[in-house]
Amino acid sequence: MAEAATSSPDQTENYLCPVCQEILQTPVRTQYCQHVFCRKCFLMAMKSGGAYCPLCRGPVCKRERSTPDRASDIDFEMRRLSGGCMYCRKQVKLYYMKLHYKSCRKYQEEYGISPKNQTIQISPANRTDRCNLQVPTVLRRELEPTELAGPLQQNALL
Ligand SMILES: [Zn+2]
Ligand SMILES: [Zn+2]
Ligand SMILES: [Zn+2]
Repeated sequence: MAEAATSSPDQTENYLCPVCQEILQTPVRTQYCQHVFCRKCFLMAMKSGGAYCPLCRGPVCKRERSTPDRASDIDFEMRRLSGGCMYCRKQVKLYYMKLHYKSCRKYQEEYGISPKNQTIQISPANRTDRCNLQVPTVLRRELEPTELAGPLQQNALL
């Protein structure tokens, strides 16, 4: 228990994906050169880069290109080990680091709000609300100096 609680940045570095430079997510390992990547990153590299290891350009067999071998030992280690979040320094199990990023404020500051959230905010319904809200605000500001004499009337209008 004490071992896991010890903060050691080196540990985290051992579980970084060479493609995205972040904590491995669903780690897979190439058969020939034994390099480890996120499954997603590996598959992306296969799509764009061809049949080579994204790190050393070592050979990758046809089957691996679509179904790479899971690096289950790395997976296991990551469930066991904790590391400091590289943004907020909070101790998080490596396996859940990616999940933590979603709720990590420092990470959000660094990378901004995810595009997913933005789409929700700019939904057509909200946009109409905004337009409707803006008009009365402007009107009220212009009216205020002239309506100062009759505040009751202003209330009636609203
Ligand atoms: Zn990756
Ligand atoms: Zn390699
Ligand atoms: Zn964090």
